[in-house]
Amino acid sequence: MSSEQLLLQDVLARSLRYIEARAERHVGPKAEDVARLAEFREDGGGFPAKGLEPSAIVELLDRAGSPATVAMTGPRYFGFVTGGALPAALAASWLTGAWDQNAAMHIMSPVGAALEELSLEWIIDALGLPAGTNGTLATGATMANFCGLAAARHRVLANVGWDVEAQGLFGAPPIAVIVGDEAHVSLYKSLGMLGLGRERVVKVAVDGQGRMRADALPAISGPTIVCLQAGNVNTGGFDPASAIIPLVKAAGAWVHVDGAFGLWAMAAKQPQAAGYELADSWATDGHKWLNVSYDCGIALVKDAPALKSAMMLSAAYLTESPHREGSHWSPESSRRARGIEVWAALRSLGREGLVAMIERCCNLAARFETGLREVGFEILNDVTLNQVMVSFGSDEKTRAVIQAVQDDGTCWCGGTVWRGRAAMRISVSSWLTTEADVDRSVAAMIRLSRQ
Ligand SMILES: *Cc1c(COP(=O)(O)O)cnc(C)c1O
Repeated sequence: MSSEQLLLQDVLARSLRYIEARAERHVGPKAEDVARLAEFREDGGGFPAKGLEPSAIVELLDRAGSPATVAMTGPRYFGFVTGGALPAALAASWLTGAWDQNAAMHIMSPVGAALEELSLEWIIDALGLPAGTNGTLATGATMANFCGLAAARHRVLANVGWDVEAQGLFGAPPIAVIVGDEAHVSLYKSLGMLGLGRERVVKVAVDGQGRMRADALPAISGPTIVCLQAGNVNTGGFDPASAIIPLVKAAGAWVHVDGAFGLWAMAAKQPQAAGYELADSWATDGHKWLNVSYDCGIALVKDAPALKSAMMLSAAYLTESPHREGSHWSPESSRRARGIEVWAALRSLGREGLVAMIERCCNLAARFETGLREVGFEILNDVTLNQVMVSFGSDEKTRAVIQAVQDDGTCWCGGTVWRGRAAMRISVSSWLTTEADVDRSVAAMIRLSRQ
Protein backbone atom coordinates (compact mmCIF):
# COMPACT_ATOMS: atom_id res chain seq x y z
CA MET A 1 0.00 0.00 0.00
CA SER A 2 1.29 3.48 -0.84
CA SER A 3 1.94 5.95 1.94
CA GLU A 4 -1.03 8.03 0.70
CA GLN A 5 -3.31 5.01 0.98
CA LEU A 6 -2.00 4.23 4.47
CA LEU A 7 -2.58 7.84 5.44
CA LEU A 8 -6.20 7.78 4.32
CA GLN A 9 -6.78 4.42 6.04
CA ASP A 10 -5.46 5.99 9.22
CA VAL A 11 -7.82 8.93 8.78
CA LEU A 12 -10.71 6.52 8.26
CA ALA A 13 -9.91 4.60 11.45
CA ARG A 14 -9.58 7.81 13.46
CA SER A 15 -12.78 9.26 12.00
CA LEU A 16 -14.66 6.08 12.88
CA ARG A 17 -13.38 6.23 16.47
CA TYR A 18 -14.50 9.87 16.67
CA ILE A 19 -17.95 9.09 15.31
CA GLU A 20 -18.40 6.06 17.58
CA ALA A 21 -17.65 8.20 20.63
CA ARG A 22 -19.69 11.28 19.69
CA ALA A 23 -22.88 10.31 21.52
CA GLU A 24 -21.23 9.68 24.88
CA ARG A 25 -18.46 12.26 25.03
CA HIS A 26 -18.55 15.53 26.96
CA VAL A 27 -20.48 17.62 24.40
CA GLY A 28 -18.45 20.81 24.75
CA PRO A 29 -14.68 20.30 25.06
CA LYS A 30 -13.19 20.41 28.56
CA ALA A 31 -10.90 23.33 29.43
CA GLU A 32 -7.85 21.05 29.60
CA ASP A 33 -8.59 19.78 26.08
CA VAL A 34 -8.81 23.32 24.75
CA ALA A 35 -5.56 24.16 26.55
CA ARG A 36 -3.81 21.33 24.70
CA LEU A 37 -4.28 23.23 21.43
CA ALA A 38 -1.04 24.93 22.50
CA GLU A 39 0.67 21.79 21.12
CA PHE A 40 0.12 23.20 17.64
CA ARG A 41 2.49 26.03 18.53
CA GLU A 42 5.63 23.90 18.58
CA ASP A 43 8.72 25.92 19.47
CA GLY A 44 6.72 28.99 20.37
CA GLY A 45 4.50 29.10 17.32
CA GLY A 46 6.82 30.30 14.57
CA PHE A 47 6.38 28.82 11.09
CA PRO A 48 8.59 25.70 11.19
CA ALA A 49 11.44 25.57 8.68
CA LYS A 50 11.09 21.83 8.02
CA GLY A 51 7.96 20.03 6.88
CA LEU A 52 6.25 17.28 8.88
CA GLU A 53 5.23 13.87 7.57
CA PRO A 54 1.50 13.72 6.68
CA SER A 55 1.10 10.74 9.05
CA ALA A 56 2.43 12.87 11.90
CA ILE A 57 0.10 15.71 10.87
CA VAL A 58 -2.90 13.40 11.16
CA GLU A 59 -1.66 12.00 14.46
CA LEU A 60 -1.25 15.52 15.91
CA LEU A 61 -4.62 16.66 14.58
CA ASP A 62 -6.38 13.70 16.16
CA ARG A 63 -4.46 13.78 19.44
CA ALA A 64 -4.61 17.54 20.08
CA GLY A 65 -7.43 18.57 17.73
CA SER A 66 -10.23 16.01 18.13
CA PRO A 67 -10.67 16.55 21.91
CA ALA A 68 -10.97 20.32 21.30
CA THR A 69 -13.89 19.88 18.92
CA VAL A 70 -17.45 20.58 19.96
CA ALA A 71 -19.61 17.47 19.46
CA MET A 72 -21.91 19.23 17.00
CA THR A 73 -22.45 16.00 15.12
CA GLY A 74 -23.63 14.27 18.29
CA PRO A 75 -27.28 13.96 19.34
CA ARG A 76 -27.30 16.39 22.28
CA TYR A 77 -25.81 19.58 20.89
CA PHE A 78 -28.56 22.20 21.09
CA GLY A 79 -26.45 25.35 20.70
CA PHE A 80 -27.13 28.18 18.23
CA VAL A 81 -28.93 26.48 15.32
CA THR A 82 -26.53 23.76 14.32
CA GLY A 83 -27.37 20.62 12.45
CA GLY A 84 -25.26 17.49 12.48
CA ALA A 85 -24.08 15.75 9.33
CA LEU A 86 -26.23 13.08 7.75
CA PRO A 87 -24.20 9.92 7.04
CA ALA A 88 -24.74 10.34 3.30
CA ALA A 89 -23.59 13.98 3.48
CA LEU A 90 -20.46 13.09 5.44
CA ALA A 91 -19.64 10.22 3.08
CA ALA A 92 -20.18 12.48 0.08
CA SER A 93 -17.96 15.12 1.62
CA TRP A 94 -15.12 12.60 2.01
CA LEU A 95 -15.43 11.57 -1.61
CA THR A 96 -15.74 15.21 -2.66
CA GLY A 97 -12.51 15.86 -0.78
CA ALA A 98 -10.79 13.12 -2.73
CA TRP A 99 -12.16 14.56 -5.97
CA ASP A 100 -11.29 18.19 -5.03
CA GLN A 101 -13.54 19.65 -7.68
CA ASN A 102 -13.78 23.32 -8.61
CA ALA A 103 -17.46 24.12 -9.15
CA ALA A 104 -16.86 27.46 -10.86
CA MET A 105 -17.62 26.10 -14.32
CA HIS A 106 -19.22 23.06 -15.89
CA ILE A 107 -16.06 22.19 -17.80
CA MET A 108 -14.08 22.13 -14.57
CA SER A 109 -16.45 19.68 -12.90
CA PRO A 110 -19.40 18.23 -14.76
CA VAL A 111 -20.42 16.28 -11.65
CA GLY A 112 -20.20 19.36 -9.43
CA ALA A 113 -22.30 21.38 -11.89
CA ALA A 114 -24.87 18.63 -12.43
CA LEU A 115 -25.44 17.97 -8.74
CA GLU A 116 -25.67 21.66 -7.84
CA GLU A 117 -28.29 22.12 -10.53
CA LEU A 118 -30.24 19.03 -9.47
CA SER A 119 -30.07 19.91 -5.76
CA LEU A 120 -31.43 23.38 -6.44
CA GLU A 121 -34.27 21.90 -8.51
CA TRP A 122 -35.18 19.49 -5.72
CA ILE A 123 -35.05 22.19 -3.04
CA ILE A 124 -37.26 24.50 -5.12
CA ASP A 125 -39.69 21.59 -5.50
CA ALA A 126 -39.53 20.54 -1.83
CA LEU A 127 -40.19 24.09 -0.63
CA GLY A 128 -42.95 24.67 -3.19
CA LEU A 129 -41.29 27.74 -4.75
CA PRO A 130 -42.55 29.20 -8.04
CA ALA A 131 -41.60 27.88 -11.47
CA GLY A 132 -38.60 29.68 -12.96
CA THR A 133 -36.88 30.07 -9.61
CA ASN A 134 -33.13 29.50 -9.74
CA GLY A 135 -30.34 30.05 -7.28
CA THR A 136 -26.94 29.18 -6.00
CA LEU A 137 -25.15 27.40 -3.22
CA ALA A 138 -23.04 29.64 -1.02
CA THR A 139 -21.14 29.42 2.26
CA GLY A 140 -24.10 30.00 4.56
CA ALA A 141 -27.23 32.03 5.11
CA THR A 142 -25.22 35.23 5.47
CA MET A 143 -23.99 34.89 1.89
CA ALA A 144 -27.31 33.43 0.73
CA ASN A 145 -29.00 36.58 2.08
CA PHE A 146 -26.30 38.58 0.29
CA CYS A 147 -27.18 36.85 -3.00
CA GLY A 148 -30.93 37.36 -2.63
CA LEU A 149 -30.42 41.00 -1.68
CA ALA A 150 -27.96 41.54 -4.56
CA ALA A 151 -30.62 40.26 -6.97
CA ALA A 152 -33.15 42.55 -5.29
CA ARG A 153 -30.80 45.53 -5.53
CA HIS A 154 -30.27 44.80 -9.22
CA ARG A 155 -33.98 44.59 -10.03
CA VAL A 156 -35.35 47.52 -8.01
CA LEU A 157 -32.70 49.81 -9.51
CA ALA A 158 -33.02 48.39 -13.05
CA ASN A 159 -36.74 49.18 -12.74
CA VAL A 160 -35.85 52.86 -12.44
CA GLY A 161 -33.21 52.74 -15.17
CA TRP A 162 -30.07 52.31 -13.06
CA ASP A 163 -27.45 49.61 -13.74
CA VAL A 164 -26.01 49.00 -10.27
CA GLU A 165 -23.43 46.40 -11.33
CA ALA A 166 -21.96 48.85 -13.85
CA GLN A 167 -22.38 52.13 -11.98
CA GLY A 168 -22.38 51.14 -8.32
CA LEU A 169 -24.47 53.01 -5.80
CA PHE A 170 -22.83 56.44 -6.15
CA GLY A 171 -25.53 58.71 -7.52
CA ALA A 172 -28.08 55.90 -7.69
CA PRO A 173 -31.71 56.44 -6.75
CA PRO A 174 -32.05 55.54 -3.05
CA ILE A 175 -33.43 52.13 -2.10
CA ALA A 176 -35.66 51.84 0.95
CA VAL A 177 -34.89 48.71 2.96
CA ILE A 178 -37.53 47.55 5.42
CA VAL A 179 -36.77 44.89 8.03
CA GLY A 180 -38.44 43.53 11.14
CA ASP A 181 -37.11 44.80 14.45
CA GLU A 182 -35.98 41.22 15.19
CA ALA A 183 -34.05 40.65 11.94
CA HIS A 184 -30.98 38.45 12.39
CA VAL A 185 -27.66 40.28 12.88
CA SER A 186 -26.21 38.63 9.78
CA LEU A 187 -28.89 40.24 7.60
CA TYR A 188 -27.49 43.64 8.62
CA LYS A 189 -24.03 42.39 7.71
CA SER A 190 -25.26 41.37 4.25
CA LEU A 191 -26.93 44.77 3.81
CA GLY A 192 -23.70 46.48 4.83
CA MET A 193 -21.64 44.48 2.32
CA LEU A 194 -24.05 45.49 -0.45
CA GLY A 195 -23.75 49.20 0.30
CA LEU A 196 -27.36 49.26 1.49
CA GLY A 197 -26.24 50.18 4.99
CA ARG A 198 -26.68 48.50 8.32
CA GLU A 199 -28.27 51.54 9.93
CA ARG A 200 -30.30 53.26 7.23
CA VAL A 201 -32.96 50.52 7.29
CA VAL A 202 -36.55 51.12 8.37
CA LYS A 203 -37.37 48.81 11.28
CA VAL A 204 -40.89 47.51 11.70
CA ALA A 205 -42.27 46.80 15.18
CA VAL A 206 -42.66 43.15 16.18
CA ASP A 207 -45.01 41.18 18.42
CA GLY A 208 -44.16 39.15 21.53
CA GLN A 209 -42.67 36.35 19.42
CA GLY A 210 -40.44 38.71 17.44
CA ARG A 211 -42.71 38.60 14.37
CA MET A 212 -43.10 41.68 12.17
CA ARG A 213 -46.46 43.35 12.78
CA ALA A 214 -48.35 43.67 9.49
CA ASP A 215 -50.25 46.69 10.87
CA ALA A 216 -46.96 48.49 11.54
CA LEU A 217 -45.67 48.22 7.96
CA PRO A 218 -44.80 51.69 6.62
CA ALA A 219 -46.15 53.05 3.33
CA ILE A 220 -44.01 51.87 0.41
CA SER A 221 -42.98 53.92 -2.62
CA GLY A 222 -40.02 53.90 -4.97
CA PRO A 223 -37.30 51.22 -5.09
CA THR A 224 -37.93 49.14 -1.96
CA ILE A 225 -36.76 45.83 -0.51
CA VAL A 226 -38.72 44.28 2.35
CA CYS A 227 -36.93 41.58 4.34
CA LEU A 228 -39.05 38.99 6.09
CA GLN A 229 -37.83 36.37 8.51
CA ALA A 230 -38.98 32.76 8.49
CA GLY A 231 -37.78 31.49 11.86
CA ASN A 232 -36.61 33.89 14.56
CA VAL A 233 -33.33 32.62 15.99
CA ASN A 234 -34.70 32.76 19.55
CA THR A 235 -38.42 32.03 19.29
CA GLY A 236 -38.63 30.25 15.92
CA GLY A 237 -41.42 32.73 15.06
CA PHE A 238 -42.34 33.55 11.46
CA ASP A 239 -43.19 37.02 10.14
CA PRO A 240 -46.78 36.76 8.85
CA ALA A 241 -46.08 36.34 5.14
CA SER A 242 -49.69 35.93 4.03
CA ALA A 243 -50.62 39.27 5.58
CA ILE A 244 -47.53 41.21 4.50
CA ILE A 245 -46.39 39.97 1.10
CA PRO A 246 -49.55 40.85 -0.89
CA LEU A 247 -49.38 44.44 0.46
CA VAL A 248 -45.71 44.76 -0.41
CA LYS A 249 -46.13 43.23 -3.87
CA ALA A 250 -49.07 45.56 -4.59
CA ALA A 251 -46.68 48.46 -3.93
CA GLY A 252 -44.17 47.02 -6.42
CA ALA A 253 -41.46 46.21 -3.88
CA TRP A 254 -39.18 43.16 -3.66
CA VAL A 255 -39.66 40.69 -0.79
CA HIS A 256 -36.60 38.83 0.45
CA VAL A 257 -36.90 36.06 3.05
CA ASP A 258 -34.24 35.13 5.58
CA GLY A 259 -35.19 31.55 6.38
CA ALA A 260 -31.80 30.28 7.51
CA PHE A 261 -33.42 27.33 9.25
CA GLY A 262 -37.16 28.08 9.31
CA LEU A 263 -37.58 27.94 5.53
CA TRP A 264 -37.55 24.13 5.78
CA ALA A 265 -40.95 24.38 7.52
CA MET A 266 -42.25 25.04 4.00
CA ALA A 267 -41.28 21.48 3.06
CA ALA A 268 -43.38 20.21 5.96
CA LYS A 269 -46.22 22.52 4.87
CA GLN A 270 -46.48 24.02 8.35
CA PRO A 271 -49.24 26.65 8.62
CA GLN A 272 -46.78 29.32 9.83
CA ALA A 273 -44.82 28.91 6.57
CA ALA A 274 -47.88 29.62 4.41
CA GLY A 275 -47.57 32.53 2.02
CA TYR A 276 -43.78 32.55 1.83
CA GLU A 277 -43.92 31.17 -1.69
CA LEU A 278 -45.19 34.64 -2.72
CA ALA A 279 -41.80 36.23 -1.99
CA ASP A 280 -39.14 37.12 -4.59
CA SER A 281 -36.04 35.62 -2.99
CA TRP A 282 -35.24 33.22 -0.19
CA ALA A 283 -32.12 32.35 1.79
CA THR A 284 -31.61 29.22 3.81
CA ASP A 285 -28.84 27.03 5.15
CA GLY A 286 -27.81 23.53 4.23
CA HIS A 287 -25.54 23.22 7.25
CA LYS A 288 -28.26 23.92 9.78
CA TRP A 289 -31.49 21.96 9.53
CA LEU A 290 -30.72 20.03 6.34
CA ASN A 291 -27.80 18.44 8.23
CA VAL A 292 -25.24 18.91 5.46
CA SER A 293 -21.65 19.39 6.58
CA TYR A 294 -20.21 22.90 6.88
CA ASP A 295 -20.29 25.09 5.01
CA CYS A 296 -23.42 25.39 2.91
CA GLY A 297 -26.03 28.06 2.31
CA ILE A 298 -28.72 28.19 -0.36
CA ALA A 299 -30.04 31.28 -2.17
CA LEU A 300 -33.14 31.07 -4.37
CA VAL A 301 -34.50 33.84 -6.59
CA LYS A 302 -37.75 33.82 -8.53
CA ASP A 303 -36.48 36.48 -10.94
CA ALA A 304 -33.53 34.31 -11.97
CA PRO A 305 -32.10 36.84 -14.46
CA ALA A 306 -31.79 39.38 -11.63
CA LEU A 307 -29.50 37.01 -9.70
CA LYS A 308 -27.49 36.20 -12.80
CA SER A 309 -27.08 39.89 -13.64
CA ALA A 310 -25.81 40.55 -10.11
CA MET A 311 -23.29 37.68 -10.18
CA MET A 312 -22.27 37.40 -13.85
CA LEU A 313 -18.62 36.79 -14.65
CA SER A 314 -17.13 36.54 -18.11
CA ALA A 315 -13.75 36.57 -19.79
CA ALA A 316 -12.39 35.20 -23.02
CA TYR A 317 -10.51 32.34 -21.40
CA LEU A 318 -13.59 31.27 -19.41
CA THR A 319 -15.11 29.51 -22.40
CA GLU A 320 -18.79 30.09 -23.03
CA SER A 321 -20.82 26.91 -22.91
CA PRO A 322 -24.43 25.83 -23.19
CA HIS A 323 -24.31 24.69 -19.55
CA ARG A 324 -25.29 26.39 -16.32
CA GLU A 325 -22.08 27.92 -14.99
CA GLY A 326 -21.88 28.05 -11.19
CA SER A 327 -19.81 31.22 -11.17
CA HIS A 328 -22.48 33.10 -13.14
CA TRP A 329 -24.88 32.63 -10.26
CA SER A 330 -22.70 32.88 -7.17
CA PRO A 331 -20.55 35.52 -5.47
CA GLU A 332 -17.46 33.30 -5.83
CA SER A 333 -15.74 32.10 -8.97
CA SER A 334 -13.59 29.14 -7.83
CA ARG A 335 -15.66 27.30 -5.27
CA ARG A 336 -16.24 24.08 -3.38
CA ALA A 337 -18.63 21.65 -5.06
CA ARG A 338 -21.25 21.88 -2.32
CA GLY A 339 -23.92 20.42 -4.55
CA ILE A 340 -22.47 16.95 -4.14
CA GLU A 341 -23.19 16.86 -0.40
CA VAL A 342 -26.53 18.60 -0.76
CA TRP A 343 -27.58 16.08 -3.39
CA ALA A 344 -26.42 13.20 -1.15
CA ALA A 345 -28.40 14.54 1.82
CA LEU A 346 -31.56 15.10 -0.21
CA ARG A 347 -31.26 11.77 -2.03
CA SER A 348 -30.75 9.84 1.21
CA LEU A 349 -33.75 11.49 2.86
CA GLY A 350 -36.17 11.64 -0.05
CA ARG A 351 -39.13 13.98 0.25
CA GLU A 352 -40.66 11.91 3.05
CA GLY A 353 -37.44 11.67 5.01
CA LEU A 354 -36.88 15.42 4.76
CA VAL A 355 -40.35 16.18 6.09
CA ALA A 356 -39.98 13.53 8.81
CA MET A 357 -36.68 15.05 9.99
CA ILE A 358 -38.20 18.53 10.22
CA GLU A 359 -41.29 17.28 12.03
CA ARG A 360 -39.26 15.10 14.39
CA CYS A 361 -37.13 18.06 15.49
CA CYS A 362 -40.27 20.14 16.10
CA ASN A 363 -41.82 17.32 18.15
CA LEU A 364 -38.63 16.96 20.18
CA ALA A 365 -38.65 20.71 20.89
CA ALA A 366 -42.22 20.29 22.17
CA ARG A 367 -40.99 17.42 24.34
CA PHE A 368 -38.36 19.74 25.85
CA GLU A 369 -41.08 22.29 26.51
CA THR A 370 -43.32 19.76 28.27
CA GLY A 371 -40.49 18.26 30.31
CA LEU A 372 -39.23 21.63 31.53
CA ARG A 373 -42.68 23.12 32.16
CA GLU A 374 -43.73 20.07 34.19
CA VAL A 375 -41.10 20.84 36.83
CA GLY A 376 -42.08 24.50 36.93
CA PHE A 377 -39.57 26.22 34.67
CA GLU A 378 -40.85 29.05 32.54
CA ILE A 379 -40.83 28.70 28.75
CA LEU A 380 -40.42 32.16 27.23
CA ASN A 381 -41.58 31.45 23.66
CA ASP A 382 -44.46 29.77 21.89
CA VAL A 383 -42.82 26.54 20.81
CA THR A 384 -44.07 26.23 17.24
CA LEU A 385 -40.82 25.14 15.57
CA ASN A 386 -37.55 23.65 16.82
CA GLN A 387 -36.62 26.46 19.23
CA VAL A 388 -37.22 26.55 23.01
CA MET A 389 -36.27 29.35 25.39
CA VAL A 390 -36.32 28.59 29.10
CA SER A 391 -35.81 30.63 32.24
CA PHE A 392 -34.74 28.88 35.44
CA GLY A 393 -35.83 31.81 37.66
CA SER A 394 -33.77 34.97 38.06
CA ASP A 395 -31.35 36.03 35.31
CA GLU A 396 -28.48 35.13 37.62
CA LYS A 397 -29.91 31.66 38.22
CA THR A 398 -30.53 31.11 34.50
CA ARG A 399 -26.98 32.12 33.61
CA ALA A 400 -25.63 29.82 36.33
CA VAL A 401 -27.64 26.88 34.99
CA ILE A 402 -26.42 27.53 31.41
CA GLN A 403 -22.83 27.48 32.67
CA ALA A 404 -23.50 24.31 34.68
CA VAL A 405 -25.08 22.60 31.65
CA GLN A 406 -22.03 23.43 29.51
CA ASP A 407 -19.62 22.26 32.23
CA ASP A 408 -21.57 19.05 32.85
CA GLY A 409 -21.32 17.95 29.23
CA THR A 410 -24.46 15.80 28.95
CA CYS A 411 -25.72 18.29 26.40
CA TRP A 412 -24.81 21.79 25.24
CA CYS A 413 -27.07 24.86 25.22
CA GLY A 414 -26.22 28.52 24.87
CA GLY A 415 -27.79 31.62 26.34
CA THR A 416 -29.56 34.68 25.07
CA VAL A 417 -31.44 37.71 26.31
CA TRP A 418 -35.09 37.81 25.32
CA ARG A 419 -37.10 40.96 26.01
CA GLY A 420 -34.70 41.93 28.77
CA ARG A 421 -34.57 38.50 30.43
CA ALA A 422 -31.78 35.93 30.42
CA ALA A 423 -32.79 32.65 28.81
CA MET A 424 -31.29 29.35 27.80
CA ARG A 425 -31.77 28.52 24.11
CA ILE A 426 -32.48 24.98 22.99
CA SER A 427 -32.39 24.37 19.26
CA VAL A 428 -33.24 20.85 18.07
CA SER A 429 -31.69 20.64 14.61
CA SER A 430 -29.93 17.27 14.35
CA TRP A 431 -31.07 14.22 12.41
CA LEU A 432 -29.61 12.13 15.25
CA THR A 433 -31.53 13.44 18.27
CA THR A 434 -34.04 11.04 19.83
CA GLU A 435 -36.66 11.26 22.57
CA ALA A 436 -34.19 9.53 24.89
CA ASP A 437 -31.67 12.31 24.20
CA VAL A 438 -34.25 14.94 25.10
CA ASP A 439 -35.22 13.12 28.29
CA ARG A 440 -31.60 12.69 29.31
CA SER A 441 -30.92 16.38 28.65
CA VAL A 442 -34.02 17.52 30.56
CA ALA A 443 -32.98 15.32 33.49
CA ALA A 444 -29.51 16.91 33.47
CA MET A 445 -31.01 20.42 33.38
CA ILE A 446 -33.27 19.63 36.33
CA ARG A 447 -30.43 18.07 38.33
CA LEU A 448 -28.10 21.01 37.63
CA SER A 449 -30.76 23.62 38.39
CA ARG A 450 -31.13 22.15 41.89
CA GLN A 451 -27.46 22.38 42.77
C1 LIG B 1 -27.94 31.31 11.37
C2 LIG B 1 -28.76 32.39 10.81
C3 LIG B 1 -28.25 33.25 9.83
C4 LIG B 1 -26.81 33.21 9.38
O1 LIG B 1 -26.49 31.96 8.86
P1 LIG B 1 -24.97 31.53 8.59
O2 LIG B 1 -25.14 30.18 7.99
O3 LIG B 1 -24.32 31.50 9.93
O4 LIG B 1 -24.35 32.50 7.68
C5 LIG B 1 -29.10 34.18 9.29
N1 LIG B 1 -30.38 34.28 9.69
C6 LIG B 1 -30.91 33.48 10.64
C7 LIG B 1 -32.34 33.62 11.02
C8 LIG B 1 -30.11 32.49 11.22
O5 LIG B 1 -30.62 31.68 12.15
